Amino acid sequence: MLTVSHDPAVVELNLLVGRVACPDCDGRLRPWGWARPRVVREGLDTKWVGRSLRPRRSRCTICQVTHVLLEVRLAARRADTAEVIAAAIEAKTVLGQGHRTIAARCGRPVSTVRGWLRAFATSAVLIGERFTGLLVRDALDAVVLWPKPGGGISGEALSVLMAYAEGLARRFAATVTVTWIDAGIAATNGRLFCASWWAGAPNTNPPLRQALAGGKVATTPAIFL
Ligand SMILES: [Zn+2]
Repeated sequence: MLTVSHDPAVVELNLLVGRVACPDCDGRLRPWGWARPRVVREGLDTKWVGRSLRPRRSRCTICQVTHVLLEVRLAARRADTAEVIAAAIEAKTVLGQGHRTIAARCGRPVSTVRGWLRAFATSAVLIGERFTGLLVRDALDAVVLWPKPGGGISGEALSVLMAYAEGLARRFAATVTVTWIDAGIAATNGRLFCASWWAGAPNTNPPLRQALAGGKVATTPAIFL
């Protein structure tokens, strides 16, 4: 699974011209059919709508491995868009709201919201460690961006994610704001909110791996393509 731009036309063009790097080797990904359709709930409140989508599938020209391409707004293994889950995490971490209050406001099942919050809290230490490392490695001015102490472990993880997003924006001179959601989803290929993935996550960073290889010209992260 690979996180790509939210714009399908851009993704298609990038695949056709060989602009999408394989996360496993030095090959390029080409169009290779479509993944199974899925329905994603969009919207931050009770008026959410279900959108049916069918992610693009691609295959590497060298290692022949196929990869499902997930747009940057989507979180892997979740039925809701990343921004909804992120809003719930902010409400809990910054405002101290409980999962029942958050669930009522966004119109999602209580158990679903509780699952999002638990997953983030469970992964918070690892998220903080991983993105602190990425901040030091990727940001040109990591010291300036160094996250302020947040409220609790989850708050600190959120602060690090925000600092990393700012670091990416500065590094690639982005003309648009890079949210911590985009940065976090892109750097984990959509698995930011999967506690099980963090529990077994390798200490590498597929989306930026080539950009960080010594002396190589930086590869633009998916969120900027
Ligand atoms: Zn490959």
